[in-house]
Parts: sequence; structure tokens; C-alpha cells
Amino acid sequence: MNVVVRYSSLGDVILAGAVTAALGDVWFLTHPRYHDIARRLTGVVGVLAPGDPLPAGARVVDLHHNLRSARVPAHTRVERQDLRRRARVWFKTAPADPVLTRYARAAGVPPAPPPWLPPARRGDALVIAPGAAHATKRWPHWAALAAAWPGPVRAVGGPGEEALVAPLGGVCEAGFDRTLAALDGAAVLCAGDTGLLHLGAAAGLPVVGLFGPTTSADGFFSYGGRAVELDLACRPCSRFGGPVCPVGDHRCLRDLDVASVLAACLAAAGLAPAAG
Ligand code: SF4
Repeated sequence: MNVVVRYSSLGDVILAGAVTAALGDVWFLTHPRYHDIARRLTGVVGVLAPGDPLPAGARVVDLHHNLRSARVPAHTRVERQDLRRRARVWFKTAPADPVLTRYARAAGVPPAPPPWLPPARRGDALVIAPGAAHATKRWPHWAALAAAWPGPVRAVGGPGEEALVAPLGGVCEAGFDRTLAALDGAAVLCAGDTGLLHLGAAAGLPVVGLFGPTTSADGFFSYGGRAVELDLACRPCSRFGGPVCPVGDHRCLRDLDVASVLAACLAAAGLAPAAG
């Protein structure tokens, strides 16, 4: 029996599925707000909250490795590489190792490929997720992409993203069950560098990620998927995104053109050959 520790955030908890699926027989220790998603990950037999007693004899794998998780008596902890990740932003040095690589190294197993959640039913819809917690991660051309897609389009988002989702005819779903249900019937999910992108991949969907202040090489996007991004000297300017563009023009996403994103979505859906 194993205990995997990852307290937050949504994307990290989802990506831990590569380890829970590989290990099997896992109790997942996380913040209660992530229990609904953690208990659905392949290999997870139960969830724990901080402070709960650990199953006797379990091997504990700490995938968080912060001050709070240090209180848990772990057998192995993930290497955070915080300095490498900061240097990448400040000095544009080489990326740190991908999250899945570091998680798998800590757990001592090769990462399992997706799906790590019950697979979403495939259909012909383009599912778009225009929201992002940080404004600089939001692409401004979703309406044009929706108009160009040769089939149904569904916009999805979480609570608080109504202003972005409603103008595209979508609804914001509360709870993972409803969010996962909203992915049903997708041919492809297109999103920024957000937890929803990882959720789609974990549910076995082809995904297209639009990267601006972060890059596809910076850790999270290592499960397969198509990245659309520009080669700009200012990228990455942040590890997580921020409220405003530091240089003021937000070219990284503003100049990411609809034709390139559409081509990536069509190719991911198997409706057109991959460019290049
Ligand atoms: S344009 Fe450059 S500086 Fe501005 S948000 Fe994008 S990556 Fe950061």
C-alpha cells in the first residue's frame, strides 16, 4: 500500500495520476477540496485529509515537499527544483525537469500514460476553456476560433469565469463531476496552461495548449498534446502567469493567431494533417 501526498493545486493533483496509476493501491493525501478528483484517479483506493492517520505500513511518497508536507513521515520526496525554475524565468536558462519526470523519480516508477481518469466519450465538438486564474494566461481570440470550427463548440469553465464563458454560449460548472461531464463528446479540448487542460488530457482527450507567459517546456505539458506558442525572448516571464504583462503588449498570446490554433485543433482531432 502507498500514500501519495500532494495538497494542491488542481493541475498538480491531476498530474499525480501518472504516479497513482503506475503504483496502484494508493491512498491520496490532499486538501479536501481536491478529494472529488483524487478519488477518481486510477490506482487510488481512498483519500485522506491533512491530519488524518496514515494506513499502517504504507510507503509514503511526498509529491509536494513543502513545509506542511514535511510533517508527514515520507519515505521519499519529490525534488522541487525551485531554483532552476526561477532561473529559467529570470535568465531564460534551460527548463527544469518535467513534473511527471520528477514525480515518477520520487515514486520509483515510470509514469503511466493518460488516461488517469475515467475516459471522456469522444465526439465531434471543440471544447474550449477560455478562463485562467491569471490574466496573462488568457488568450483573447476564443470567439474567432469558435466561429471557425466546422462543428459544434462548447465553452466550459469554473465558478467565477462566467464573464469569459457566457459570451461564448457556455456555462460554468461547479464540481468535478459536472466539469468532467462537460468534456463528454469532445473531439479536442483547447485551453490555456490551466488545470482544465490537464483535466482533459487525464480524461484521455486530445488537447491543444496555448502557452504565453509560461512555455510548454516548463514542466506540466509532458503527457503528450499539441502546444501552440510563439518564440519570444520575453518568454517565460513567469512560473504561473500574472495579472499584467510585464512589458505591456501581451504579444505572447495576443499574436497567437487563430489559423495556427485552428490547425492544431483540427490535427489533434484527426480532421486535418499536422502542420510541418
Ligand atoms: S508578452 Fe512576454 S512579458 Fe508579456 S506576458 Fe507574454 S511572455 Fe510575459
